[in-house]
Amino acid sequence: MENSEIFIKPIISTPFQENAYITYLQANPNKSASAQPKNKECFVVDPGFEPELIIDYLRSSGLDLAAILVTHGHLDHIAGVSELRKAYPNCKVYIGKLDADKLTDAELNLSSQFGKPITTTPADVMLEHGDNLNIAGIEIEVLHVPGHSRGHVVYLIRSTPTFIVFGGDLIFRGGVGRTDFPDGNHSDLFKSIKSKILTLPPDTIIFTGHGANTTVRNESR
Ligand SMILES: [Zn+2]
Repeated sequence: MENSEIFIKPIISTPFQENAYITYLQANPNKSASAQPKNKECFVVDPGFEPELIIDYLRSSGLDLAAILVTHGHLDHIAGVSELRKAYPNCKVYIGKLDADKLTDAELNLSSQFGKPITTTPADVMLEHGDNLNIAGIEIEVLHVPGHSRGHVVYLIRSTPTFIVFGGDLIFRGGVGRTDFPDGNHSDLFKSIKSKILTLPPDTIIFTGHGANTTVRNESR
């Protein structure tokens, strides 16, 4: 699969400047102006606050939501899960096994700390390291990367010429995720980055949970 076939639309939600990513195969990858879907299906990574922005985009593009892929269960990455599920009852929610309880527990997902407890419906699929998914015609590999959150996963697409990673809050452009949460761990974070991210090809594009995207080459420095 060529990554020019894969269209990724970021939707930034205001409260935490969190990036959700609507992802699908496009019909005419060579016409740069076009983002016509090849088939009707898409998936969304980390739907945060303002899920209506995501729903508006899906409706206006004629897309159906096959899956919600969650990198980790912090409030700003899951706040939109319930609304999307209501709008697309057939979509399935995927999350790392060790973060699944954060969906249904406002203490664990940190939302009660922010004075606005949020819970969602439980996950449909709990992921483990090395799981392979095929969603909306796109093959996705699951990497478990504890450190920011103990069940944090990233989603890797081995496309050509460059791989794509949805990295959540593991790594940012010029920085790394916080580890001062109850289940955060600084040495796990660096171990995860070193062994699972920096071993990917340098051109790999990392779509981060906050801020601009980056590459493995940028972050190796
Ligand atoms: Zn987080």
